Amino acid sequence: MSLIKRAYSELYSGKDFGYEDKITYSGRFNDYNGNIKKRGNEIEVNMSKTWRGIDKEIRLGLIQALLNKLFNTKKETINIDLYNKFLKNVHIAVPKTKLEPVLVNSFDRVNDKYFYGMIEMPNLVFGQRSIAKLGSYEYGSDTISISQIFREAPAELLDHIMYHEMLHKKHKFYTKGGRSYHHVGKFKKEEKKFENNEEIEQQLKKFLAGKRVKRWFGF
Ligand SMILES: [Zn+2]
Repeated sequence: MSLIKRAYSELYSGKDFGYEDKITYSGRFNDYNGNIKKRGNEIEVNMSKTWRGIDKEIRLGLIQALLNKLFNTKKETINIDLYNKFLKNVHIAVPKTKLEPVLVNSFDRVNDKYFYGMIEMPNLVFGQRSIAKLGSYEYGSDTISISQIFREAPAELLDHIMYHEMLHKKHKFYTKGGRSYHHVGKFKKEEKKFENNEEIEQQLKKFLAGKRVKRWFGF
């Protein structure tokens, strides 16, 4: 039986899988990423190459998590649990090869000041030049991405974004009913501990507004 079929029938307690299925492993994805697509009667799961060497039971959990998304269900299984545990711990094994010097400095400042230097350094990269998505943390590739606009920002604004993303690495995520929650209560509480937090948030708003005006005029 194919992995997708098995994932489906175990997720939906033996319900018939009436689709064609296909799994591909691709180098286009970041480490331990994956997605699912449904076209007519075909369900296709695409995974990063790194999934190839990973235990079948964990891959099964990934597929079930993707099926939950696709069919808008909230089923829980042992395999999904295994997959979430894997995703929370895989950072230990991910090679750190991308380290942008400006971001390494920011990471070190924030780590010393707020985390007693206890957070392990992830990959640190500049992402797209976005004023909507300021930063992100990806568990599978253990990567913090920061928007290019922070190349020109005062250090405390960059550090503020860095702090938020480092909290994701620290707190991981909380799963319930087949869904993952990333900004839970204790996360938000700790987020407010950033020095002069409210003032910095006001500065950030102004900084972003400035970027918007510049973009509007095409600079
Ligand atoms: Zn966040």
